[in-house]
Amino acid sequence: MQINVAQLLRASIGSVRDYEIKKIIDITGDGVNSLVQGKVRLMRTNRSILAKGELETDVELTCGRCLSPFKCPLKINLEEEYYPTADVDTGAPLAAPDEPGSFTIDENHILDLTEAVRQYALLAIPMKPLCKENCAGLCPFCGQNLNRGPCGCPLKSADPRWAELSKLKKEKGK
Ligand SMILES: [Zn+2]
Ligand SMILES: [Zn+2]
Repeated sequence: MQINVAQLLRASIGSVRDYEIKKIIDITGDGVNSLVQGKVRLMRTNRSILAKGELETDVELTCGRCLSPFKCPLKINLEEEYYPTADVDTGAPLAAPDEPGSFTIDENHILDLTEAVRQYALLAIPMKPLCKENCAGLCPFCGQNLNRGPCGCPLKSADPRWAELSKLKKEKGK
């Protein structure tokens, strides 16, 4: 996701360029690649280049209820400023931006969106991912994935309190 912005740095403030993004990156850092697609608009500001984008991707996650791996779609609404580090005409180095940790454009005027997209995608991952909203989860007794159908355990309820009750009943019956 590297874009040469030399032309845009020379353009007047408010100038925009639109780009179609289609790139495979490793979002979670575990070697699983995700295809990132969407549109990004770059705008020249008085001090930087503002990148705004709407991108989509998906990552492989584990369902918090049934523990199955699934592909989770993510929407990425990117908005980041990129500060030039070299003067576009003279090549002279420019002062670092005030905000530490800001994204920068390298001395060859290449703006690389990859790291920002990765960070935004990570933030878009749900805390408790579910393979589907009504995921049935695992049977607490036999561990079967109930999305694949009932497991045949004698108790229909997944509430473990019922299990205790039934144990008591059985003991009484002895
Ligand atoms: Zn699930
Ligand atoms: Zn079961």
